[in-house]
Amino acid sequence: MKVTVIGTGYVGLVTGACMAEWGHDVMCLDLDAAKIARLQRGEVPIYEPGLRELIMRNQPAGRLRFTTDVAASVEHGDIQFIAVGTPPDEDGSADLRHVLEAARQIACHMDSFKLVVNKSTVPVGTAQRVSTLLEEELGRRAVRCGFAVVSNPEFLKEGSAVADFLQPDRVIIGCGSGTADRRAREWMTQLYAPLERTSSQLLWMETRSAELTKYAANAMLATRISLMNEYANLAEALGADIEEVRRGLGSDPRIGAHFLKAGIGYGGSCFPKDVRALIRMSEQAHVSHHVLDAVEAVNSRQKFKLVEKLQKRFGASLSGRTVAIWGLAFKPETDDMREAPSRCIVGELLRLGAIVRVFDPVAMPAARRAFAQDLAAYPRRLANIHWASSALDAARGSDALLLVTEWVEFSHIDPVQLAKTLSMPLVLDGRNAWEPSLLASAGIEHRGIGRIPAG
Ligand code: NAD
Repeated sequence: MKVTVIGTGYVGLVTGACMAEWGHDVMCLDLDAAKIARLQRGEVPIYEPGLRELIMRNQPAGRLRFTTDVAASVEHGDIQFIAVGTPPDEDGSADLRHVLEAARQIACHMDSFKLVVNKSTVPVGTAQRVSTLLEEELGRRAVRCGFAVVSNPEFLKEGSAVADFLQPDRVIIGCGSGTADRRAREWMTQLYAPLERTSSQLLWMETRSAELTKYAANAMLATRISLMNEYANLAEALGADIEEVRRGLGSDPRIGAHFLKAGIGYGGSCFPKDVRALIRMSEQAHVSHHVLDAVEAVNSRQKFKLVEKLQKRFGASLSGRTVAIWGLAFKPETDDMREAPSRCIVGELLRLGAIVRVFDPVAMPAARRAFAQDLAAYPRRLANIHWASSALDAARGSDALLLVTEWVEFSHIDPVQLAKTLSMPLVLDGRNAWEPSLLASAGIEHRGIGRIPAG
């Protein structure tokens, strides 16, 4: 099928590459000319396991093209995916500027039936807004051609996005029931036909339900994280071990074992903004949102947990202290720094006077940009970040090591070598990645989140 994907970010690029892998004829559009130029040269602008291979296979085969030409991209795809960003507005609601602009681009250039598929995470009622915009614009141009708008929210996870897309747990499609919608249903079924070989299923529902499902899912996952973090803080206060509690909880099939890790809070480009947007949607609908408020409040506090622990140990000021940070991306296997907890932690450590030695296996360039932006008004603090060349280089001479992102390579570190490298053998494990006894055996004091210290 002929598919256009508007937006080549984490979702759009993966969608385009995977659709091409399924044999569809895909054109990806982005307004960012530098990004498109890199993609045309065969460079992949983001780190995502397996993505480079897909692009390298499908681009030379002619199934995957990249362009900044709006008219050509609208002409190309019978199916037009909108996969642009929906960042938070000042009041927390989703900023629909890019989505509506993408819809306008389609409306300004289409001259045959188009199926518009919304993949961006958007508030309930957005498909309706897009339909109205298309109708108005086509009316203005006096062009008579039909269209359908469906909601197809994306559930991929950064770090395993390609696998998630090619073998999703389910695909949610919100669709109306008019004549154009029947064609939409047929085309969506054809588009996702390759999934017949997997155990994935298409879940059809009302458009508004599909739009809400995406927010409800992310808020549910964020709720589990915040609740587990509250349990961890309680475990710490009462002398219980959250990892044991987690095993006990997760073995109950009504609860399930996923998403029960305690830590230093959620971040990334989705959970924080989607919880806030759902709160805003609830406010606008005059519906209470106590649970969502609590989820957010717990998370905001949890991000500073490691700094609080350091202050308990060294006192309120960290002036003269050197602190190593392992992991900067908001989670392993990505270079995405959007709302990464590391940004709060490093910012706070610098504010308190510490020198910070940071290392991340892939996110160093993105982190340099993020911290330059966060600390634009504080050049002296920015100068107190030392960009280490390896995990051990970051640890060298540090008074404490903070594990912020649990990259697998960190869990394989030799504790004896680590103990020798640190100037004080103190590890604050923000992701409960190590068994306390393992580090204790090398003479390292290990403090997790809600864990009983060894010995
Ligand atoms: P992103 O910021 O990485 O990418 C968006 C891209 O769209 C950018 O390259 C931008 O230049 C381009 N763009 C903006 N306006 C455009 C226009 N009018 N025409 C063409 N290109 C345009 O965003 P993302 O992380 O891929 O997220 C996209 C959407 O998917 C968001 O709504 C997000 O909430 C949702 N989502 C994201 C993830 C994730 O893990 N990142 C997962 C599921 C859903």
